[in-house]
Amino acid sequence: MTAPVLGLLSPLLDDVTLDAPWALIERFSTLKREHPDDVRTAAGEIVRRLEAFGVPVTVHEPEIYLSLPGQASVQGGSERFRAKPLAMSRAVPKGLTAPLVFAPTAFDPNTDQVITSPVGGDADVDLRGKLVLAHGFGMSSMALHFEQRGALGLIAVHPGKNPHWGICSTVWGSPDLRDLPRKPNFVVVSVNHADGLALIEQANQGATATVFAELEEGWYPSPIPVVTIPGTEEPDKYVLLHGHYDSWDVGVGDNAVGDATMLEIARVLWKHRSQLKRSVRIAWWPGHSTGRYAGSTWFADHYGIDLYENCIAQVNCDSPGCRWATEYIDVSWMSEAEDWARAVIKTIAGKEARGERPYQAGDYSFNNIGLSSYFMLLSTMPPGLRAEKGYYVVGGCGGNIAWHTEEDTMEIADRGILLTDIRIYLAAVAGAANATIAPFDFRKTADEFGATLEKYQAAAGSAFSFEPARQALAALRSALDRFAVECASLQAGSPGDPRVRRANATQRRLARLLVPVNFTSGPAFFHDPAETIPALPDLAPALTLPAARPEAVGFIRTHLMRGQNRLVAALRDALHLVGETTS
Ligand SMILES: [Zn+2]
Repeated sequence: MTAPVLGLLSPLLDDVTLDAPWALIERFSTLKREHPDDVRTAAGEIVRRLEAFGVPVTVHEPEIYLSLPGQASVQGGSERFRAKPLAMSRAVPKGLTAPLVFAPTAFDPNTDQVITSPVGGDADVDLRGKLVLAHGFGMSSMALHFEQRGALGLIAVHPGKNPHWGICSTVWGSPDLRDLPRKPNFVVVSVNHADGLALIEQANQGATATVFAELEEGWYPSPIPVVTIPGTEEPDKYVLLHGHYDSWDVGVGDNAVGDATMLEIARVLWKHRSQLKRSVRIAWWPGHSTGRYAGSTWFADHYGIDLYENCIAQVNCDSPGCRWATEYIDVSWMSEAEDWARAVIKTIAGKEARGERPYQAGDYSFNNIGLSSYFMLLSTMPPGLRAEKGYYVVGGCGGNIAWHTEEDTMEIADRGILLTDIRIYLAAVAGAANATIAPFDFRKTADEFGATLEKYQAAAGSAFSFEPARQALAALRSALDRFAVECASLQAGSPGDPRVRRANATQRRLARLLVPVNFTSGPAFFHDPAETIPALPDLAPALTLPAARPEAVGFIRTHLMRGQNRLVAALRDALHLVGETTS
C-alpha cells in the first residue's frame, strides 16, 4: 500500500527546495523568539512568506499563560555563579538565602524522572528549608520531587559547559482549576557542570547560598498561524502537522528548522492542492518553551470537538535537519503508525528507522482526545558519534548539545539533512491524507497492549488477575484481523465510497478509544501532566506490587480494578465498532 501512495507523491516531493526554508532559518537565526513581542515578529515572518506564495493563512490570537525567564545567578561565598531560571520557577529578584544541600538522587536524562535505586537516593537527607543541588535538567518531575520533599529551591547541575533553558512545571499548557495545585511555588535555576561541582563542594562544607531569579508570568496574547490545504474529495477530514516557532534564544535547531520545514510543505501542498484528497492543516505554535505547550494546548481545547470528529492523525515537527543527524532512531510513533512511519523513512531516506513510544512531551497535546500520532524529533546523530564527542543526551537539535542554549545558532542546521527531512514530513503527511484507508494498523496496538499486560501480570503474580482484559483483547485482536482483510479489499476504492468512509471512521474511532487508555490517566479533553506516563498507565501500579508494604496492597488492587474496567470497556467498545464495520 505504501509504495503506490508515495509513488503518486513524486511530483510534490520533486518540488521541494531549500530556497524558502533556508531564508526563514537565516531570518530566525537573528531573532530571539522568547518574549511575546519577538514571538509576534516571528509569526509575522511566517505569515508574510505564506502570503507571498499565495497560501491563505488564518492567524488565531489566543491569550495563553506564560512564564518569561530573565536573569539569574547564585551567590555562594564570595563567588557569583552564572545561572538560568527555568520557566514557571518562582521569581526571587531580591534573592533567596538558605543552607545548601547536595541530593545524590539519580534522574533519567530523558525524562528527569527519579531513577529509584536501593542506594544513592535522598530519602535520608533532610531537604526541608534548603537549597538543593542535584544532577539533572531540573524540568518537570525533578523539580516536583524536591518541592514535595520540602526544599525551598533547586539548583539543577547541568552536565555541560552551558546551562540549558527549560521549564520546571508539570502543568500541561495554560493551567485549569485541576492543574493549579501542581503549579510550582518553588525556585528552580540551572548552572553548568563546573559551577555545580563548586557549589556542591560548598554544600559539603555546610555553606549557605543566595539564589537570584527574575521572571514574569501571566496571560499573553500570542499568534497561532494556521494553514489549511483543502482536500478535493473529503475536505472535512484532515491530517494535522504542527510545531513550535517560539524558541530559547534564536533556537535554530530547536526549532527554526521545523518552522522552515512546515513553511515549505505548506508551499508545495498549496501548489499541488488538486492532488490532495483530504485536507492537511499546518499550525505553528507559540508558548512551547515558556508555557509548556500552551499554544498547541489552546488549539486542542478550542478545536477539541473538530479534532475529535475529523482529525486523521497528528504529526509533530521538532528539530529536523540538524548537523550530524544522519540516523532515524528513537523516532516517536504510536504502535498503529509504526509500519507507515518506517515505510516513509525507508522510501525517502533509504534508512531503517527505529521507534519508541512517544514521551509525554513535544506538543503531544492531543492524547486526551485520542489522536493517532507519529514523529516528534526525527533525525538524530548516531550514538557512536555522540560518544566520540563526549555529548550527553538532550531533547532536540538532533543530539547537538547546543540545544536550549545561546549556541543553538546557524551552524546547527544542515542543508542536506534538512532537505531529506522536509521530504519525509511531506510524504508522511500527504500520504496519510491521500491513502484510501488511513495507513494505521491497530493490530500492532493490540499486540503492544498484550505485551504490556503480560509484563504487568508477571509483576502482579497471584495478587491481581488481568484475565478480563486479556479476554477482551483477544476478541478485539481477532476482529481486527477481519477488519484488515476488509480494508485491503477496499484499497482500490475511492475516498467517497461509503464503505471506505465507514472503514476510515472506524480507524479514527479506534484511536479515540485506544490512545487515551494507553497514554492518559486524566479525563478526555483535559491534559495529563508533563511526566512520564507508562503504557496502560492505570494498570502500571501492578509493577509496584512485588515490593509493596502489606497495608498498601489493598489500595493498589482497588486502583487496578478500576483501571481494568476502564480498559475492558474501551476494548469492548472497539470490538463492537469493528464488528459493525466488518458485518
Ligand atoms: Zn522543540
